[in-house]
Amino acid sequence: MGKVAGTEPTGRRRRGLEALPGKDRVKFAQEQQAERLVGRAGVPAVRGERHDGAGDLGWYLIKTCLSFRPEGAKAFYFGILEVKQMLETIETIRQAALARVAAAKRSEELEGIRIQYLGKKGELTGVLRNMGKLPPEERPRIGQMANMVREELEKALEEAREAIARRELAERLQKETIDVTLPGRPFPRGSRHLLYQTLNEIKSIFIGLGFDVAEGPEVESDYYNFEALNLPKEHPARDMQDSFYITEDVLLRTHTSPVQVRVMEARRPQLPIRIIAPGKVYRRDDDATHSPMFFQVEGLLVDRRVTFGELKGTLMAFVKQMFGDEVQLRFRPSYFPFTEPSAEVDISCVMCGGSGCRTCGHSGWLEILGCGMVHPRVLSMSGYDPEEVCGFAFGLGVDRVAMLKYGIDDLRLFYENDLRFLQQF
Ligand SMILES: [Zn+2]
Repeated sequence: MGKVAGTEPTGRRRRGLEALPGKDRVKFAQEQQAERLVGRAGVPAVRGERHDGAGDLGWYLIKTCLSFRPEGAKAFYFGILEVKQMLETIETIRQAALARVAAAKRSEELEGIRIQYLGKKGELTGVLRNMGKLPPEERPRIGQMANMVREELEKALEEAREAIARRELAERLQKETIDVTLPGRPFPRGSRHLLYQTLNEIKSIFIGLGFDVAEGPEVESDYYNFEALNLPKEHPARDMQDSFYITEDVLLRTHTSPVQVRVMEARRPQLPIRIIAPGKVYRRDDDATHSPMFFQVEGLLVDRRVTFGELKGTLMAFVKQMFGDEVQLRFRPSYFPFTEPSAEVDISCVMCGGSGCRTCGHSGWLEILGCGMVHPRVLSMSGYDPEEVCGFAFGLGVDRVAMLKYGIDDLRLFYENDLRFLQQF
């Protein structure tokens, strides 16, 4: 269309109006009407602009008007409106979509934007679906325009997606950074209670000497706890072991000695019997050196020929492994209802080595356990003939061994569960 300017045709036509014959004046009036229509539609081509499809189309319409086909002009007028509206819609969609892409912070938002504008039911797709309303010659132009916007939008989405992915990765790396040079956090670790450490140590020494570990009930009958151990009812020695009774005949065991009886009964006539019986025992005592519950290890050896010398050797081996080779042992005559003869065993003071200190009451000796040869009556009550078999027994407090070995002066520390104490071992 080259040199043609928007206002030129109108001016030319106006100038020649009077010269026109009547028939042509009517046509010219129709042309003007069409032009007004075009003007009202705001078609840029009227002002000679050609920046978009509507511009060219507008100019095409003018030319149609000039050829005095007002009905054609009318059709094109509506075509122009559609084209114009569609282009505006596309532009609006483009700007809105790009703005939303630019503002998106997360990759999920981008997918939402893509679906909203480019998806099967998306806004831009919807515009293209309405292309059928356009004059056929305008369709490729609008299609091209829409495709350009689609490509532009897809590119923007892709770029934004990459940028967001990079940022999200950077953020995650920042957040999940592990400084491998930092020292590890200390993990609080529990440890075995000192009494159980000591008990295990005692067990392993006696197991090494050939003893089995036997266990029995903590709630015991009067028979096993007392009578079968040569402590009949009304026996004054029962006063030595004040007890927690559950019924008249059932009590919390006051020592682990009942296990001796139970094992002898169960294994009879098998020989030898060589056991230790570790476990909790209960007595009505509560002070710095007595606890109502404490741990005891009972030992028993029964065979055809057992001497006091073997008892002494066994305890010597135990004490030296527990406290060290330099520790001395001494036996003092004593009394227990279930052994005859009986002895209490002292070790040379682990604090002062025997020279005398506060711990040993300046005697140089510490009492550690009681022992003796099994009383014949205990053997016969368990079904063994005391003329044919004999044995020795001993009993020691785990608490006592732990106190002596670790220099602890108050028994109650074992049971108060104070971590400041427990963590030292
Ligand atoms: Zn001492």
